[in-house]
Amino acid sequence: MRIIVVGAGAAGSLVVFHLARLVAADDRAEPLEVVVVDPIDQVAGPAFGTTDPAHLLNVPASGMLVDPDERFDFVDWCRAEGFVGGDEAHYFFAPRAQWARYLRTRLAEARDRAGERLSVRFVRDGAVGVAVVGAGVRVTTADGTVLDGDRLVLATGLPGVGNGWAPCDLSDQPRYIANPWMPVALGPVLADDGDVLVIGTGLTMVDVAISLLKSGDDRRVEAISRGGRLPRRHADSYLGEVVPDTATEGDNLDEIRAAVATHVARIERLLGNWRPGVDGVRYRIAELWGRLDEADRRTFVRDLAGDWGVRRHRMPPSSGALVDEARRTGRLVVRSGRITGRRRCRWPHRRDR
Ligand SMILES: Cc1cc2nc3c(=O)[nH]c(=O)nc-3n(C[C@H](O)[C@H](O)[C@H](O)COP(=O)(O)OP(=O)(O)OC[C@H]3O[C@@H](n4cnc5c(N)ncnc54)[C@H](O)[C@@H]3O)c2cc1C
Repeated sequence: MRIIVVGAGAAGSLVVFHLARLVAADDRAEPLEVVVVDPIDQVAGPAFGTTDPAHLLNVPASGMLVDPDERFDFVDWCRAEGFVGGDEAHYFFAPRAQWARYLRTRLAEARDRAGERLSVRFVRDGAVGVAVVGAGVRVTTADGTVLDGDRLVLATGLPGVGNGWAPCDLSDQPRYIANPWMPVALGPVLADDGDVLVIGTGLTMVDVAISLLKSGDDRRVEAISRGGRLPRRHADSYLGEVVPDTATEGDNLDEIRAAVATHVARIERLLGNWRPGVDGVRYRIAELWGRLDEADRRTFVRDLAGDWGVRRHRMPPSSGALVDEARRTGRLVVRSGRITGRRRCRWPHRRDR
């Protein structure tokens, strides 16, 4: 059987890992030919392709697993690699590059175990078309290559924001960086110590700011977003997760929102911290989302996803400490605002100080 996987990010790589695992576990399994299509040469995907050791996972090691049967394999790997010792390894926020290395290692081992009954071929190109042809599928890539297969896995990640919001005379500038997670994208900006404006104030901004601030002592970073919200910080130690009982939580956004708020407030009252309440809701998200109609889903994305995101997708404590220090010294400024115009200026740019 020939399986085409479009996208070699975390999801695509894990698909290949689990296919290899299935083949290795069953001597009678039919041989598999896997074709992975991705224009980027980064197994594990853009966010895990970073090489900066200051870019940390925002999930503790115990929450990062490739194989549900090996629950604490990454924790053990971090210990074996000497990053952290003892019980601290469970609540360790490893560099994302190390997670990518771990994933590549486990993937290579799984392929070895599958032996000749699994072949994996990479096609370095973007898929531009997919079609059902007879009982199979056909993928066409940007250079016109046609790939036929029996099954198709689409693992292309979230759609990028793109350049649509930026005027052309900004987006065609060499110092405009549309996606900091593309390989060496930050290179031209890291090369000097000019000030940098970051559009967005989420986890990507946090990592970009950390890289920029350590690359130039004089540099300042200003970050803006409509809400001007920063991700909240993880607690300094593991606090657990309390999963809400959602059986009676209603079928529309108002009711579910009220029930989630009650749950989080109750946990904060009982445990002195809201985080275990928020983290527990994570296990119910698919179920709660399934109860919303299209209009409620749109309302959530428009009005509530930002507030939810900063609580749910938090930065590691050490990144939070760097951000706090940079804000205290004025090297990082976070504002709320919208882009309404732009003006050319000299580079490297420095605001009057
Ligand atoms: C700053 C930051 C920190 C994060 N920290 C964590 C964390 O600690 N833990 C965690 O679990 N998650 C974390 N995430 C989220 C994580 O990166 C994503 O959940 C995960 O990488 C998604 O994997 P994916 O394979 O679905 O998508 P991606 O990693 O985006 O991969 C998609 C791949 O598909 C390819 N592709 C897209 N379109 C095509 C096409 N037409 N043809 C061929 N290929 C295509 C892309 O080139 C890419 O390689 C973080 C994200 C960010 C931005």
